[in-house]
Amino acid sequence: MRKFALLLATFSLLFFYARSQEIVEQIERSVNQDAVEAHIRFLASDELRGRMTGTPENKIAAKYIAERLRSAGATLLPDRDSYHQQVPLLRSDAPSSAVFSFDDQELSQWDELLFITAANGTLSAPLVFVGYGSEEELKKGKIEGKIVVARAGAEDNKEARAFFGISREKVEMVKEMGGVALIELYRSSELPWSLLQNYFSGTKYTLDGPTGDSFSSGLINDAEGTWLEYFSSKKKLKSSELTIEGADTRSIEVPNVLGWIEGADPALKDEYLIISAHFDHVGVKQVPAGEDSIWNGARDNAIGTTALLTTAEFFGMNRPARSILFLACNAEEVGLLGSRYYSENPWMPLDKAIFNFNNDGAGYNNKTIMTVIGLERTSADTMIMDGAKTFGLTAIQDPVPEQNLYDRSDNVSFAAKGVPAITAAPGADDFDEEVLKYYHQPADEADNLDYAYLADYYRAYILAAYKILHAGERPFWKSGDKYEEAGKSLYSIE
Ligand SMILES: [Zn+2]
Repeated sequence: MRKFALLLATFSLLFFYARSQEIVEQIERSVNQDAVEAHIRFLASDELRGRMTGTPENKIAAKYIAERLRSAGATLLPDRDSYHQQVPLLRSDAPSSAVFSFDDQELSQWDELLFITAANGTLSAPLVFVGYGSEEELKKGKIEGKIVVARAGAEDNKEARAFFGISREKVEMVKEMGGVALIELYRSSELPWSLLQNYFSGTKYTLDGPTGDSFSSGLINDAEGTWLEYFSSKKKLKSSELTIEGADTRSIEVPNVLGWIEGADPALKDEYLIISAHFDHVGVKQVPAGEDSIWNGARDNAIGTTALLTTAEFFGMNRPARSILFLACNAEEVGLLGSRYYSENPWMPLDKAIFNFNNDGAGYNNKTIMTVIGLERTSADTMIMDGAKTFGLTAIQDPVPEQNLYDRSDNVSFAAKGVPAITAAPGADDFDEEVLKYYHQPADEADNLDYAYLADYYRAYILAAYKILHAGERPFWKSGDKYEEAGKSLYSIE
């Protein structure tokens, strides 16, 4: 039976290949420049106010995507009754004031003190200093009922970017052992205090945990190392007091949008390609009177969302051998949260996903290319280059690897699980002035796009997707890639 199925599959793949010229012509006709422009103009309109996560306009965008998927012929996922997957988030606004006092010292919010999570009210408790706050040090410190002070990071990891992940682990341990708050001494030239101030003064989003949160965890600005010296000599204080006012933490739900096109080949339809793009952007900001306050996000990422819709429109009329899962992700701009939640709570088994072909762009400065972040990392590279070439474009790999774009978009949520994943973007050969003019700027509007170029970009993208959907061999990580091991374990490859 298995052999028969394999033969059948091979036959059907050959059949699909023989039709390749016909397919190119069908893609050419299917991608309609006016239809493309309509999607982008709607998604990037002032009326949608920048599609910020959690706003009514973000929901309208999700509704639009779901209905366009439906009309393209993408169905609900098997056993689901909605195109929307609700993503539970915690939305926190920084406290309006925070004061930490001990001995004859008093530290207050912004210049001396910042909170990652904050619970309103006054805590009076003994204080204990626990070095880096490893599990052993916390146990030794007998932290129950105490305010815990620790150095940020860990003995074996002092990288600033790792501080926050490590801090979350410490918070869990401190809570478990009955500590009442965690304050860390922060010192880094890599991520200076002023950047943190900027970040923590805005609204922050995290995936909502089972507990919700009413625990204060914060940082002391220790740029000079004087507080480390102070606490290293004091170790314990009989009393200290932490007073926080005006913190606001709420649970919200925001939708991811999912659609499904079932493959036509009975032997292959269990396998599927993930076509993804985030549809949220950064919303409306306070600006001086008379200036544009709406960050429309035409390039970032109405263009990518439209790639997803246009791909659905093509394959709805031209069913592929393998299936396609469409995932329009929410909450990307606030920390890749929609894709991360989906990858932790998938609606289809991830080991049947053959590839994640994500779309996300900053902008373009070269209309002869398409930029593919991660192009060189998987064996889908030649299929993507061929797809692009057929429509007159050259597929190039990440022009600015030092920016680490691969780990800054939704593809990484799938890569971390082992699914070979890349991100396609309109042609940028550098992060130059032409790109920065629009990147996360109110000028990123539907009016200043070249729709003829975008139509060709979409055609190239769809043909590349077509080739992956009908590949004899499923794509995989190139040997030695950072995510190769995760891939082997996901697909049980020896
Ligand atoms: Zn983006």
